Parts: sequence; C-alpha cells; structure tokens
Amino acid sequence: MFRPIVFDEKVCDGCNMCVTVCLMEILERSPEKGRPPSVAYPDECAFDGACWLHCHLRDDGAIKVVPPLPMRVSVLRGKEKKGKGAR
Ligand code: SF4
Repeated sequence: MFRPIVFDEKVCDGCNMCVTVCLMEILERSPEKGRPPSVAYPDECAFDGACWLHCHLRDDGAIKVVPPLPMRVSVLRGKEKKGKGAR
C-alpha cells in the first residue's frame, strides 16, 4: 500500500498537530492517546508538507513525507537544471 506519510511511533508523541494542519484532511487521530495518527486517505495527499512543517518532533524523525517516485525524479531533475544554469 502507498504511504505518503510515515510516522515513527518511537518518536511521535501523538500531539495531532499534523492532523490539525492538514488541509486535505487525510490524517486520522489515533484512538489511543500518545500514539501516531494514521493516514486515512493516502491517495488524496497533496505533498504540501504542512504536516511535516508543523511537527515539533520533525527533526527527530517523527514524521516523513514520502512523495511518489516520479515526483522525486522531477524534483531531482529540477535541481540538476538549476545547477547547470548557475554555471
Ligand atoms: S507526527 Fe509530529 S505533529 Fe504529528 S502527532 Fe506525531 S509529534 Fe505530533
């Protein structure tokens, strides 16, 4: 199954800030307090990164946004072009 958002349950404290800020409302609070949310609608993720940006534990790896492979390739190609143009 495709998982656009991955939580590290050892790091995430279940604050649910990511659930609150998601404009697409794809995340669902865990019924268990202190546990990571779940991704209820993975196909509707816009990859805007709001969940990651607002997570107070992002630097510790609580949450990761994982774009689909074609999206990652186009981002990398964009970087390559920028690098060539800077010469
Ligand atoms: S991933 Fe971050 S923002 Fe989301 S519930 Fe866990 S600690 Fe909170």
